[in-house]
Amino acid sequence: MSEQIVKALKELHRIQPVTNACITIIDDVSTSNHVGPLSDWVIAAKDNFATDGILTTAGSKILSNYIGVYDATAIKKIKEACGVIVAKTALDELGMGGTGLTCFTGPVFNPYNQNHQAGGSSSGSAVVVAAGAVRMALGSDTGDSVRKPASFCGIVGVKPTYGRISRYGVIPYASSLDHVGYFTQNVLDAAVTLEVLSGFDPLDPTTIIEPLLPFAQSLTGDLKGKKIGVLKNVIEHIDHVETCDLFNDLVSKLEDSGAEVIEVMINEQLLKTALPTYYIIANCEATANHANLTTVNFGLRQPGLDLKEIMNASRTGGFNSLLRKRFVIGSYGLKDENQEFIFKKAQKVRRLLVQELNQALENVDALIAPASSTIAPKIGEDNIDKLSNKHLISENYMVLGNFSGYPSITVPMGYIHEMPIGVNITTKANTEPLMFDVALAIEMLTGLKNQVKKVIV
Ligand code: GLN
Repeated sequence: MSEQIVKALKELHRIQPVTNACITIIDDVSTSNHVGPLSDWVIAAKDNFATDGILTTAGSKILSNYIGVYDATAIKKIKEACGVIVAKTALDELGMGGTGLTCFTGPVFNPYNQNHQAGGSSSGSAVVVAAGAVRMALGSDTGDSVRKPASFCGIVGVKPTYGRISRYGVIPYASSLDHVGYFTQNVLDAAVTLEVLSGFDPLDPTTIIEPLLPFAQSLTGDLKGKKIGVLKNVIEHIDHVETCDLFNDLVSKLEDSGAEVIEVMINEQLLKTALPTYYIIANCEATANHANLTTVNFGLRQPGLDLKEIMNASRTGGFNSLLRKRFVIGSYGLKDENQEFIFKKAQKVRRLLVQELNQALENVDALIAPASSTIAPKIGEDNIDKLSNKHLISENYMVLGNFSGYPSITVPMGYIHEMPIGVNITTKANTEPLMFDVALAIEMLTGLKNQVKKVIV
């Protein structure tokens, strides 16, 4: 076992009592002497990636005894590139939620301050990268589950174009919105990771056929002639002066380095419907996807006299109350008599929102806005008004990246009271090299690269 792996395992065990970031730490990892693009990379994976012979729970009690029987394609590609997976990380149950507080193994804590959330749903993956225990960690992003925790933990979080990375072997949440994503400590590592993970997969018919050509080594971060759109709607509803100050400061720096900054507005009425629309689509698809979690063939089964009783008891006891609520909403939206005016209507609104996004992107290379309205909330103090514009727009606009499937990345923007906050960048479909170039430019301007927070135990 290499020195890096031994060090990573030790660090993961050391920080586990205060972060609760891992579900499984793989102490007996197998390594090879081959050399590949991820040689010496110590990596973690969210626990919704299937791993052969290793517990794969998706953060749910109902799968808390499920051992994977094959490797997800992303895991396979990491191994082929000689990366070593040392941990499976905690997530909000089945990827549903944004707090990092609903995994069956308990809440995940922010490495910067354990009184704060890490964000979710890819909480554990964000934490182990931010704490410097691993170099990269896989996550999944259905609404913002990579890009939001990246903001709260001060690291890079990537959601590429829909279909860029195979989802084969990833326990689904909502199939039309689910993306494989990941975290790194800097933009170059993020670009190298995408080169490794991307590609057509015959086992995932939604993967893009055209390969992504190598681009990482040719990134320059040169902004001259680039048009950067500032998403005005998002800024307008942020009432935290510190966030606006950090963002405005970044915008000035972008201008100073040769970018043309243009303010962009999206139809506000429509934008306010993005989150409710997201919840309808996500809950309906999740309800259908998770209908197989009956515990009849696999999973943690509760006793009962017949199949119906077993399924009822297992599902009621196996899912947290948030999930049960979402399955009720999803079942309602999918009922024959409701489909037209709930599920299908939401799909039409989604289309309109993507048209708005297309318009917003028409005259710019990239759209930027703060990835969260402020730093990670304190645990127990997440009492934001759910119907406010701040919540509906500033805190949740990143679902547009899932509606459209367009590539979107969060990179660190600065610190408020010693807690990190990120900026999000979205570009048109299949333009990841451009997205990474803008991200690199921002990383160079802020100087916030490899921002590792050593956790004090
Ligand atoms: N917070 C969102 C939700 O609960 C996003 C989750 C995700 O991207 N997996 O659905």
